[in-house]
Amino acid sequence: MINQDRLKNLLIQLIKIDSLSRKERNVALRLQREMESLGAEVWIDDAGDKVGGDTGNLIAHFHGTARGAPPLLLSAHMDTVVPGEGIVPVLDGDILHTDGRTVLGGDDKSGVAIICEVLRLVKENQIPCGDIDVVFTICEEAGLIGAKCLDVSRLRASTGLVLDSDSVGFLFTKAPAANRMEFRVRGLEAHAGACPEKGISAIKVAAEGIARMRLGRIDDETTANIGVIEGGMAVNIVPNSVVLRCGVRSHNEEKLERQTQHMLQCLEEAAADHVLELDGKRFQASVEAQIERDYDRMHVPDDSAIVRLVRAAAKNLRVELKTLATGLGCDANVLNRKGLEVANLSTGMREIHTVNEWLDLKDLYLSAEMVLEIVKLNGASH
Ligand SMILES: [Zn+2]
Repeated sequence: MINQDRLKNLLIQLIKIDSLSRKERNVALRLQREMESLGAEVWIDDAGDKVGGDTGNLIAHFHGTARGAPPLLLSAHMDTVVPGEGIVPVLDGDILHTDGRTVLGGDDKSGVAIICEVLRLVKENQIPCGDIDVVFTICEEAGLIGAKCLDVSRLRASTGLVLDSDSVGFLFTKAPAANRMEFRVRGLEAHAGACPEKGISAIKVAAEGIARMRLGRIDDETTANIGVIEGGMAVNIVPNSVVLRCGVRSHNEEKLERQTQHMLQCLEEAAADHVLELDGKRFQASVEAQIERDYDRMHVPDDSAIVRLVRAAAKNLRVELKTLATGLGCDANVLNRKGLEVANLSTGMREIHTVNEWLDLKDLYLSAEMVLEIVKLNGASH
């Protein structure tokens, strides 16, 4: 039933519109036209002002014709990661990839295109369905901050799907919570040649702290990473400051806090080893920590209405569906936190966040069939 050419062409069109985080305006305008042409009531919220972007989240209300059917949320994000400007999509048979210079942006233009195609089919074929709330968010890749700014009281749906994950047949229902940390290690500056003994190298302190840390895969529920390290001024200065930007994710709140504190503690212990007496004054290396909750965990039960709905649709299409936990956060984490029940359905995107990103159009079409079936089944339930 999916109009494959139309879906493919829309996806390619959307991919060609640059939309790095905070610069989604052109794609939002394109989608606003699309949604309005389908008869939806559309508005763009003020999230763009709040996050310093050039557009807000796009919200579209469709009025369904099936009385009594519960409203359903369909959501995807409009922004893409770097390098993501001037994307040249290349089609080899059914495989869509890039020229190797940029990401494809199938994350998450594939989700956006599927939602548009399904709503077109609903309208063309007058398929009975409940009200549908579409949310196309900004800045998912910048820390889910578009979704965080979304006023969910303006939605009618309390359950639905985010379309933002890879292989077809997977429904992600569990995702970790995450902390984001910035540790600043302070030392004492001195001339590196004339009097290094009057300095404390912040780089050395940080290195000793890092060497003590458990990092990477901590256990089956927890991961930790130091992603960015910056510090020092010149080769002839003992560095007085180093900043480490780190992240910890876990499906378990207690483990999340334990790992976060472990990393801080390792740096503090290393700092305590570096004490200097200078002209009767005592200096010690130190650590300043900024610890922020990046997002909360998502945990949609297997017997929830949305999981049962997706299962039923998969069964009708003879797709084997697996509910899974992911190690990543997405807008669904935020929406669940805000009181909705939202799972993350796959679209066919692969090797995302790399210049090797690709997508098999057959997967895209099957995902669209799934979403259409979900909308139909939801329309039939009351
Ligand atoms: Zn994504």
